[in-house]
Amino acid sequence: MAEGDLSPTPWAIETHGLAKSFGNIPALAGIDLKVKRGDHLTVFGPNGAGKTTLIKLLSTLSKPSGGSVLLDGLDIRKTPEQSRSKLGVVSHSTFLYPHLTVSENLRFYGKMYGLANLERRIEEVISQVQLKARLHDRVGTLSRGMQQRVAIARAVLHDPPVMLLDEPETGLDPHATVMMRAVLEHFTSGERTVVMTTHNLARGLELADQVLILHEGVVVYQEVKQEIDAAAFPEIYDRCTGMRR
Ligand code: ATP
Repeated sequence: MAEGDLSPTPWAIETHGLAKSFGNIPALAGIDLKVKRGDHLTVFGPNGAGKTTLIKLLSTLSKPSGGSVLLDGLDIRKTPEQSRSKLGVVSHSTFLYPHLTVSENLRFYGKMYGLANLERRIEEVISQVQLKARLHDRVGTLSRGMQQRVAIARAVLHDPPVMLLDEPETGLDPHATVMMRAVLEHFTSGERTVVMTTHNLARGLELADQVLILHEGVVVYQEVKQEIDAAAFPEIYDRCTGMRR
């Protein structure tokens, strides 16, 4: 390994015994996972399974009750700033200021990351999410689908190698969903490592290299995509989560 090489491990993300409790409720009860650099992990699970909790812990938004998260082999608790600079997070909340315009929002986040050539970067990402015409409109005046695309622009502004997506398509109509998929495909293909939660079994499986099913805070199924028969997957999901269709 060359001196100064901070990437001796093939794993972009590792968790070891990752746990989170809220009072007596164990939202996550000790999760071990490894995601290879450039891979896409899809996390499935019914309501309350712990998916959002996992994304919050991976993104440093929440502190674990136990265990650890490593990004590129480094413990995120010991390197919080460096870790955050590697992460782009898209969740239920857009983390946008509704009274500020799209460009003001992006400028705010860009400055926080200390980005050089910020105006050029804003133009670039806003074109990529196909919202150039709305750059000077207040975020609060945009549709939910458009706001979600601004949230993606915000998440990729600093070109993070890892994206964490918590049900990115939830609440979007069919047209907005199609738009969102095109935008997400643009940003999640290639070298980026992606962890995405979704309730959409077919879509989640299609995008995955690796699949995980959470149930009551526990990993009840973990498999690489090549080993999964897509036609049988809904049944596997039902069996693992104790559901009946
Ligand atoms: P959904 O599909 O509904 O989004 P989820 O799989 O994302 O569900 P989480 O939001 O991670 O589930 O919640 C896991 C468990 O942790 C649930 O029992 C939930 O009630 C509990 N929980 C999550 N956040 C909190 C909180 N801030 N305070 C108390 N309990 C919480």
